Amino acid sequence: MSMMTGEVDAALNEFQQCLGTENVLIDPLTLKTYETATFKTERKIPAVVKPGSTNEIQACLRIATTHKIPIYTISTGKNVGYGSRVPSCDNAVVMELSRMDSIIDFNEDLGYVTVEPGVTQEQLFQFLKDQKSNLWMDATGSFTSHSLIGNIADRGFGHTIMADHFGSVGGMQVVLPTGEIVQTGLGRFDNAKAQGIYRWGLGPYIDGLFTQSNLGVITQVTLWLMPAPQCYEKFFFSVEREEQLPELIDLLRPLRLNGTLRSAMHIGNDYKVFGSMQQYPWDETSGETPLSREVMDRLSEKWDFGAWNVSGALYGTKAEVKNARKAVRRQLHGKVKSLRFLSEGLVAIAEKIKKPYQWVTGINLDEMLKVLRPVMGLTKGVPTNEFLPSTYWRKKTAAPAPDDADPDADGCGLIWVAPIAPTGGVYARELWEIVKTTLIKHGFEPSVSITLLTERAMDCVINIAFDRSVEGEDERAIACHDELLQCLTESGYYPYRLSLASMGLVKNDETNYMNLMRSVKGLVDPEGILSPGRYGI
Ligand SMILES: Cc1cc2nc3c(=O)[nH]c(=O)nc-3n(C[C@H](O)[C@H](O)[C@H](O)COP(=O)(O)OP(=O)(O)OC[C@H]3O[C@@H](n4cnc5c(N)ncnc54)[C@H](O)[C@@H]3O)c2cc1C
Repeated sequence: MSMMTGEVDAALNEFQQCLGTENVLIDPLTLKTYETATFKTERKIPAVVKPGSTNEIQACLRIATTHKIPIYTISTGKNVGYGSRVPSCDNAVVMELSRMDSIIDFNEDLGYVTVEPGVTQEQLFQFLKDQKSNLWMDATGSFTSHSLIGNIADRGFGHTIMADHFGSVGGMQVVLPTGEIVQTGLGRFDNAKAQGIYRWGLGPYIDGLFTQSNLGVITQVTLWLMPAPQCYEKFFFSVEREEQLPELIDLLRPLRLNGTLRSAMHIGNDYKVFGSMQQYPWDETSGETPLSREVMDRLSEKWDFGAWNVSGALYGTKAEVKNARKAVRRQLHGKVKSLRFLSEGLVAIAEKIKKPYQWVTGINLDEMLKVLRPVMGLTKGVPTNEFLPSTYWRKKTAAPAPDDADPDADGCGLIWVAPIAPTGGVYARELWEIVKTTLIKHGFEPSVSITLLTERAMDCVINIAFDRSVEGEDERAIACHDELLQCLTESGYYPYRLSLASMGLVKNDETNYMNLMRSVKGLVDPEGILSPGRYGI
């Protein structure tokens, strides 16, 4: 979309009149922060606008349409590793919705909450606490300050039974680029009692159209929550050799499919686990990268983790958890290392005895608990910033405290590639071979976590981690990303979501699906002003 400077100036003027100058950011230093991600982008942004209501969003879209200015929606813009706040096209005004942070409705009995785009993970967590609610939310390992709706808009996932976030959406309110407000599901009937409860509504189900797309601005979501289970138990185990991955996946699949394992299970390889504990071990490698197999093996032995490390949780009544524990033991018996179940009671005891335990055994329980607490918290929907320092993996300066992490500003390099596959050993083997070969070839550690996201599908989250301040690293990382994505898609493994770096690379232009999407886009956004090019639309 080409633009005349006069049109931009006129639009900025109108944005200022409508939102107040304090909600139209044009200071070059501020704009630079919105133009910065954890990988190289060259997009320029003329302004950031911050509407505070649905009416103001409508007005912003009207102004953008009148002046044919592209406008790119973000909620809180913490999409770090996927492109942060950088728009899908050049010269787009960023429309940030963080000011709209009301919790509009809450129902303890039916287990749902209706939120605006600015409502963050920590805000909902605190709200449930204040309400003394018996409901749990789901949380991601990302910023506690990220938006629930922003995550849903990209179909992100977390760790509990409600890990598939879009799967917990009961209904939405959306503003179309033309300014009309659409309620999805039963929300279109003013007096419908089951609004937000029965997600399919009546007639075509359309909520999906507004995720991973550019067909509307989501202004409200009704999100389902889970009742806190009577009993909860975390478990961990590992397998020692890299080649055991296919067998491991085949062992876990029946448990996930038959409902013994009800939540998203996470399997991190040694590189992933180590990277979440500390930065690159420059001393042990004499400054060489990538981290060699030999050094990784030495570190794994020292820290006692395996080639693949599994963490999951059991939820239910006491009897259900007991049965599930038995089933897990039976299935894994003799095939895995150090299967450990950890109840909350056991952790509470460990907290109490950590000092004397260390005196007697020499084992630093406190260090172990430091790692355990956030991992356990996530499987109970407790948001944490503890994993953010992992984005400083290749930095030579010390990572900041979790709450101070700012990977965009600090030149951390990170690109996620997250292919989805059927849950099966053959697929895991093929995926892992592609990942390992490609990342090592380009000089990066093959750091991955595999999540058994649904009963049938697993997602492999690969992080290409680097230091943007090292000359040439930006280019090497993008080259690695492009080759990885190409190899994966050629082999039939498509990402569950796209980063800004991958958006133009997944080729499906000529399909009837894309033709349909373009027709819908033409209908709801005739001037093509909303997030042009997002997900290829
Ligand atoms: C260390 C680390 C760990 C992470 N762990 C996870 C994880 O466990 N799970 C996970 O899913 N992600 C994870 N992420 C990725 C990312 O940080 C999260 O997905 C985060 O939720 C995205 O940021 P946000 O919520 O602020 O969304 P935004 O950045 O605000 O939005 C994301 C995208 O959705 C679209 N969008 C946003 N709001 C709207 C709207 N109202 N209407 C229409 N479209 C909209 C925008 O185009 C935007 O680009 C992680 C990142 C890091 C660095």
